[in-house]
Amino acid sequence: MNTLKPDIAIIGGGIVGIATAYYLIESGINCTLIEKDPVGSHASGLAYGSIGASKVQGANYPLALKSVSLHKKLSESLSTHTGIDIQYREKESIRLAFNEKEREFLLSTDSNISNWLEPSQIFSLEPSISKQIIGGIHETKAMDVNTYNLLSALHNAIETKGVQVIHDEVIGINVNSNTSLTLKLKNSAKVMCNKVVISMGPWSNKLSDWINIKLPIIPLKGQILRLSKPGILENCSVSWSGNYANLKADGLIWTGTTEENEGYDESTTTESRDKIMLSAIKMIPEIKNAKIVKQTACLRPMSPDNLPIIGSFTDYPQIYIGTGGLRSGITLGPAIGKVISELILQKSTDIDMTHFKPDRFE
Ligand SMILES: Cc1cc2nc3c(=O)[nH]c(=O)nc-3n(C[C@H](O)[C@H](O)[C@H](O)COP(=O)(O)OP(=O)(O)OC[C@H]3O[C@@H](n4cnc5c(N)ncnc54)[C@H](O)[C@@H]3O)c2cc1C
Repeated sequence: MNTLKPDIAIIGGGIVGIATAYYLIESGINCTLIEKDPVGSHASGLAYGSIGASKVQGANYPLALKSVSLHKKLSESLSTHTGIDIQYREKESIRLAFNEKEREFLLSTDSNISNWLEPSQIFSLEPSISKQIIGGIHETKAMDVNTYNLLSALHNAIETKGVQVIHDEVIGINVNSNTSLTLKLKNSAKVMCNKVVISMGPWSNKLSDWINIKLPIIPLKGQILRLSKPGILENCSVSWSGNYANLKADGLIWTGTTEENEGYDESTTTESRDKIMLSAIKMIPEIKNAKIVKQTACLRPMSPDNLPIIGSFTDYPQIYIGTGGLRSGITLGPAIGKVISELILQKSTDIDMTHFKPDRFE
């Protein structure tokens, strides 16, 4: 059996792993990406695809700002270089309030009072919104992408630029020295490398089985419905209390979501279908006549403090990790990949990494 010898091996080809490979190969670093399943078959290929710094609070905000600008650049370069349209769009959106408490909460998250719209202003933008609302926060440029196309385009781009992609599962890591690691694969060649990047999403906690570190990442399941209901939500998307509905570029209304602690179960359920429909109908009553075209389920990587985990370990400086994107992993993915590439190449980044340290759970 051959042994491959890239400088850097990346385990996991979701948005974080592929973005890391994309930025490393741009700097001419010889890297190999190992992915166990078909491209886009987990959260990074099934997510709703909303991108926005305004929805990201606290320590994540600078990372989200960096990522929004990287998403814009990717939207320009990927279609030119791969021919794949990632369907990046900027569209109006409204966060709805049905009562005073929700109104106060929304206003506390947006310092610009002029973004608050009264119901009549909202109905002139989108007449199908529930007449029960008391107002909402308006955003003129809410961004979204087709996540499956984004992942496919990035995959295509990294392969064209020379990243070797291996379709296999990593089942162990042997630390030979500070500059040498051996990865054991289920079916094919071993991989020997100088550095490894763990970007296995909710499966990243496997690392704790392979080396002596604590990595308490868990999966948080979410489900989405894709509906056919022509004639609504053409001008803006809506959201309310963690739920959303948007007419995407594929002509379907995507609506969700749920937060379920079901371990690694990625199956869809009728309970979640009904719960999502109820929320969607609350926002847009006409959705009760919509046809369900598709239901999907996937897993978000969640850390104990809900913040991403990014960087290398004190005891294992040759092992880097990027995970914990939770509900904002698509928004943050390019920045997480870029930051990891900067830490590897320059040992520094312009983002304050204090809150994202991998050792913080020890
Ligand atoms: C319903 C839902 C909607 C969402 N909507 C949005 C949204 O609108 N906006 C947003 O910003 N975020 C959204 N998210 C969150 C986002 O999808 C995730 O945070 C993000 O995709 C996580 O990316 P990742 O690369 O860390 O992990 P993943 O996408 O899970 O990728 C990890 C990859 O690693 C591979 N892997 C694991 N173990 C191994 C191994 N041993 N060997 C080889 N490969 C391995 C897996 O097969 C997988 O492909 C949503 C999530 C859900 C569930």
